[in-house]
Amino acid sequence: MEQSRISRRVESLSPSATLAMSAKSSELRAKGVDVINLSVGEPDFNTPEHIKEAAKRAIDENFTHYPPVPGYMDLRRAIAEKLRRDNGLEFAPEQIVVSAGAKHSLSNAVLALVNPGDEVVIPTPAWVSYVEMVKLAEGVPVCVPAGIDQDFKILPAQLEAAINERTRLVMLCSPSNPSGSIYSREEYAGLVEVLARHPEVAVISDEIYEHINYTGEFTSLASFPEIADRVVVINGVSKAYAMTGWRVGFLAAPLPIAKACSKLQGQTTSGISSIAQKAAEAAYVGPQECVEEMRRAFERRRDLVVKLAREIPGLKVNNPQGAFYLFPEVTAYLGGKVKTDKELAMYLLEEGHVATVAGSDFGLPGYIRLSYAAADELLVEAMGRIKTALAKLL
Ligand code: PMP
Ligand code: GLU
Repeated sequence: MEQSRISRRVESLSPSATLAMSAKSSELRAKGVDVINLSVGEPDFNTPEHIKEAAKRAIDENFTHYPPVPGYMDLRRAIAEKLRRDNGLEFAPEQIVVSAGAKHSLSNAVLALVNPGDEVVIPTPAWVSYVEMVKLAEGVPVCVPAGIDQDFKILPAQLEAAINERTRLVMLCSPSNPSGSIYSREEYAGLVEVLARHPEVAVISDEIYEHINYTGEFTSLASFPEIADRVVVINGVSKAYAMTGWRVGFLAAPLPIAKACSKLQGQTTSGISSIAQKAAEAAYVGPQECVEEMRRAFERRRDLVVKLAREIPGLKVNNPQGAFYLFPEVTAYLGGKVKTDKELAMYLLEEGHVATVAGSDFGLPGYIRLSYAAADELLVEAMGRIKTALAKLL
């Protein structure tokens, strides 16, 4: 088919760089190259047994019919209880919409909140899909950069400067993909003070990495009463319970926003897989030790990767407080044989056989992202390969 038949909306969309790099690394591996894939971010653990058992039971018990569009009431009750238990938030089940992953929840929320021409403030580095989702909704992304010198967190004055009369939404993510940074309650309070002065601006708070946190503290943006009536919380089971393939996420929002997302879903996807929903319910109501076990493994790997990265001359690293990514600054290697961070990610793949993602794909050039959700031995080998490949560029 001719390219011109494709809508401008989709034609102008960039493909997901995280998924593209991962596909490229699989291609090379299929050709026999021993590639270590640190590009896509997903737990390398398998889904805990009790969750898998719940899914098998769901099939046997004939949870095989169309589920309600916003999700089974039992699951939404379990999520409401999770929000109360873990985050001290009060949401009624009616304010919760279950979707096919947090990605789908984010996309629903953006489509429900953004009109053509509306500005959406996105602190960068930000996860690759935020800007593209805003473009799909015909909104205008306004990126606010925060580099390693400010630990990748925007300051209240930067937020204030980015908001104008066209701003309708701010998208925040903590713990952050790709930087691993976490806003403390005090840091969030500074941003909330700004947001409180702009009641027309809604907020999306992406909390998918909530449990992959090495600080022992987590603050949800919905816990600030000044703005709670316009915060959409995004979360799901992918990261905390190693359930990326099950595709279950949710949003918790003020009722009119939840209703809008449910209406949207009713005309696009319907309710998501009945079996995956029953598995997610088991994740939320079942034993939570598995979450802590995986968190500890990620923390150990964070320490390992940061230590190894700090031994690489020219690489500038922070100490990420959550998620499972390292986002080192790589400008020391650019300008010679390799000009940009994108070229550097390709160079590391082709020369070092390690797949990473370029910082510019997250809206912040001069960096690369490594996912350390991989076995310790693989991480040691990968960091060794990166060190050797980078040494050739200095
Ligand atoms: N938000 C962020 C910041 C992410 O990194 C991811 C993982 N791709 C998602 C949302 C989506 O997660 P999922 O759709 O697997 O629930
Ligand atoms: N969160 C992961 C990442 O950023 C998953 C891939 C994706 O959906 O983009 O790598």
